Amino acid sequence: MLENKSKYQADEHGYYGQFGGAFIPELLYPNVKELEDNYLKIINSEEFQEEYKYLLKDYCGRPTPLYLTRRLSQKYGAHIYLKREDLNHTGAHKVNNTIGQILVAKKLGKKRIIAETGAGQHGVATATVCALMGLECIVFMGEVDIKRQAPNVARMKMLGAKVVPATCGSKTLKDATNEAIRDWIGNPEDTYYLIGSVVGPHPYPDMVARLQAVISEEMKWQLKEQTGKENPDTIIACVGGGSNAAGAFYHYLDDEDVELIAVEAAGLGVHSGESAATSQLGEVGVLHGAKTILMQDEFGQVVEPYSLSAGLDYPGVGPLHAFLFESTRAKFMNATDQEALDAAYELTKLEGIIPALESAHALAVLPKMKLSKDQVVVVNLSGRGDKDLETYIANLK
Ligand SMILES: *Cc1c(COP(=O)(O)O)cnc(C)c1O
Repeated sequence: MLENKSKYQADEHGYYGQFGGAFIPELLYPNVKELEDNYLKIINSEEFQEEYKYLLKDYCGRPTPLYLTRRLSQKYGAHIYLKREDLNHTGAHKVNNTIGQILVAKKLGKKRIIAETGAGQHGVATATVCALMGLECIVFMGEVDIKRQAPNVARMKMLGAKVVPATCGSKTLKDATNEAIRDWIGNPEDTYYLIGSVVGPHPYPDMVARLQAVISEEMKWQLKEQTGKENPDTIIACVGGGSNAAGAFYHYLDDEDVELIAVEAAGLGVHSGESAATSQLGEVGVLHGAKTILMQDEFGQVVEPYSLSAGLDYPGVGPLHAFLFESTRAKFMNATDQEALDAAYELTKLEGIIPALESAHALAVLPKMKLSKDQVVVVNLSGRGDKDLETYIANLK
């Protein structure tokens, strides 16, 4: 773990430069304060680390492989590695975070776990660890999303979670988040709010980044083993809220010679009005309890984002990413729906790996880059494509 000396680390109030903090209703203050006072002590304790590492290994299947692609590398003329987060239990990086937070919740003596979910991926990862620990699980999900994401709703129910529809507003992720917060205010004693990305009020962004940091921790020794050097030249990751990217970047943030590339979803095109390319379209504001960059109209109302990929369909980015963008430490690129689909078909054909549509956005910037033959590039393959099969089949030409 990095100590609090890096400028890319949240300060004691949860700020990355001007971004972050905890902008919360007064009624939530005790819940957030309890977590803030305890999270570092808990996750740095030997007891936590032992169980967290054990579950990552024997339950999730970590370390995930770092795979040097053959035909993809040949095509783009560079050494392209994939960090195989798609091989985690439940099919994506999200479980790294839910395992960590469920252990925090247990340590705090909480009996009831609530979560919000959009596409259902975080809901499934949360329901999974609640089943594992025998804890009650309530997942808030927009009514519209419940209809769109039936297989994930079925999974959550089979895992024993209660799925509560959010029926206000656009009946999607932001309304589910509001419902979760309302529930948390009403049940401060026994309930833990398990957030799914590096978003929300401090300490969530910092805590989730630390729990996903295992990705770059492994990358360091795996690269050393395979290339003789810990550092690649370039790391590419997609950004919805930013948790898989935060994990892939974490241990390289201070190594300024490592190029970090964050890829946002451009939907039908950055300026088409149907996009989720937050850094290009957004402005500074407060979203879900943190000061960050978000897509908003002239009155400060959140603009509905769009991406074919449900995991990237988010109107903001976490405060760390807002800071990486503003400070230019990370380079922000984007990929449209079509570019991501093409990249997914390409990886499948060249390597026999069907990526999640989110992860395909990261792959989709390879043709836009000027790569050299000795360049070592790591693409964080955040998840597998099983959940996107219908979309892939519908769009095959
Ligand atoms: C949820 C999800 C994402 C986006 O979330 P981040 O917090 O930005 O990582 C990316 N890839 C997959 C496979 C996901 O399930």
